Parts: sequence; C-alpha cells; structure tokens
Amino acid sequence: MSKTILSGVKPTGKPHLGNYFGAMRQFMELQNENEKGTNYFFIADYHALNFVQNVSEMRKLSLDVVIDFLTIGLDPKKSVIFKQSDVQEHTELAWIFDTITTVPYLKRAHAYKDAVTKGGEEDVSAGTFTYPMLMAADILLYDTDLVPVGQDQKQHIEFTRDTAEKFNRIFGETFKLPDAYILKDVEVVPGSDGRKMSKSYNNTISLFASDEEIEKAVWSIVTDSEGEVPKNVFAIHKLIKPEGELEKIYDENKGKYKILKEILIDDLKNFIRPMRERREGIAKDLDFVNKVLEEGKQKAQAVARAKMSDVKRAIGVS
Ligand code: AMP
Repeated sequence: MSKTILSGVKPTGKPHLGNYFGAMRQFMELQNENEKGTNYFFIADYHALNFVQNVSEMRKLSLDVVIDFLTIGLDPKKSVIFKQSDVQEHTELAWIFDTITTVPYLKRAHAYKDAVTKGGEEDVSAGTFTYPMLMAADILLYDTDLVPVGQDQKQHIEFTRDTAEKFNRIFGETFKLPDAYILKDVEVVPGSDGRKMSKSYNNTISLFASDEEIEKAVWSIVTDSEGEVPKNVFAIHKLIKPEGELEKIYDENKGKYKILKEILIDDLKNFIRPMRERREGIAKDLDFVNKVLEEGKQKAQAVARAKMSDVKRAIGVS
C-alpha cells in the first residue's frame, strides 16, 4: 500500500478498549500494511487543552500517549510520531480555515452540541467551537488519504472534506480530500452500560488495567439480557475472542451471568496483562520516548512547512 495515513489521540487520560479497538489497533495494522506510504500519528495536545489546563498533567499525559503508541506497536521507523504543538502550522492553518467557515456550520458539529447539552452554551470554550477547523488543519497539512478513527469522528472528517473543497474553490486546488477509515464491527465500542465506551460516561475498561481494575469493571457491567445472553458482557467479550468460540461459551452458559462474567474477566486479564507489562518496560526509557518525539517533530515540521508555503501563496500573503 502507498498511502498517507494520519490520526491523533488527545492526551486526556488512559486509553480504553474503545480507543484501542475503535482506532488505535487500526493505526498499527495500517502502519504495517502501508510499506510504501507515510504514516503520521500525533498527540493532539492542543485539542486536549480544551480539557486539560494544568502544566504537570499536560506534560505527563502527553508523554503517556507516546508510550501508549509504542506499546500498541507503532514503530518510529515506520511511523512519524509527533506532538501537535511542535508543529505550529497546525494552528496557523486552523486560523485560515476559521476565516472561510461560518458560525452556523460549526454549530452543527456533534462535539459542540454535546458540550452545549452538558454545560450550556456559556461554558463552551471558543476552542471547542472551532475544534473541527483545527482537526481539518491537522489532516490537510499532510495531504492525508486515510484517517483511521471511531464513528464519533466521522462528522469531523466530513467537515475536513468540506473545508478542503471550500478552500480549493476559493483559492485554487491546494488540498487533497481525505477519507475516514472506520471498521464497521468496532465503529462504536460499547462500555459497561451498553452506551459508547467513553471517559465522560464512566463506563470504560482501561487498555492497561490492573487485574483488580478488570474485575471491578466487569462486575459493574449492566446485565440487560437478550434471550438469556447478557448483551453488554457479550459485546465486550466479542472484542477479544473469536465469535465461533464465543457463541459456544454463551450457548453452554445461558442465563449464567456470574460464570460468563468470570470467563470474561479471565480473558481480559490474559489480553491486557502482556500489554500492561510491555508498557511498563517502555515507560522506563523516557530518553527513548523523547527521542521518538524529537525525530517525529523534525519530519512533520518539514512536510507541514512546505504545505503552508503553498497555502500562503494561494491566499496571497507570501
Ligand atoms: P480521543 O482520545 O478522543 O482522541 O479518541 C481517540 C480515538 O478513539 C478516536 O479516533 C475516537 O474516534 C476513538 N474512540 C473513542 N471512543 C470510542 C468508542 N467507544 N468506540 C470506537 N472508537 C472510539
């Protein structure tokens, strides 16, 4: 494959199974398939600034994402791993997009609507409101073909395409239109209550959970049933066990929720333990982690600078 692949993760806390199966696992798979192309995976720290406004927390959480990336198998020899704030062209281009975008258009964004529902419009930061334009800049700066994400980001990729088209219409052909890469089976990974797994719903299972945390999370799964199958338990189990094997287990244990949860606990422990141990090893070598970021910064900056000079020429400020 010879594509440009790009995606980002906000440093807002520990990744959960929704992040992993919905997006991060695909980062690693695409990276390995895309031998002739370029892969960019970045730490979306300026996006996270809407939520994380504490110096030590921001520093720690940003490094954590790099460690998470390396743990799940991103390879700095195959992928450019960098921090959004290290490449100033992201915010510079976002401003240009702000000027060709209207307020009613941005008001249609799900993330904005959710923030209004949660806290009322008065509490929504301007950064949250214009967030889709920063995301458009993140993607379009690198002539991206494919953006692996979960379903919740689909609309933002559509906004990105619209923005590229609008810019191209006004200023001439400059940006490539990217496609979202969303796997149907895992487009919305459910949490312990059956809703989308999300930190804001408090229904997550961490990708690096301890054995105790796994037990606690599984016992808290809400057991609504469908024909004696606890559907929330099954939905999480399906992520880590082949469907054939799983059906046999659920057939043999119809209505036995306690046993089914115990099996899920064991399977999750076996799945998570090696990841957790690998992460602990990588986290000890912070020099390496910082070196990965430094190299990624150099590579991303070079590409973003070249693109920005095309953009500046196109709009007449160069
Ligand atoms: P974030 O940490 O919000 O930047 O999310 C990282 C990635 O995980 C994004 O591509 C999201 O779409 C994806 N994601 C988050 N939660 C879920 C979920 N419950 N199911 C599927 N994908 C998800």
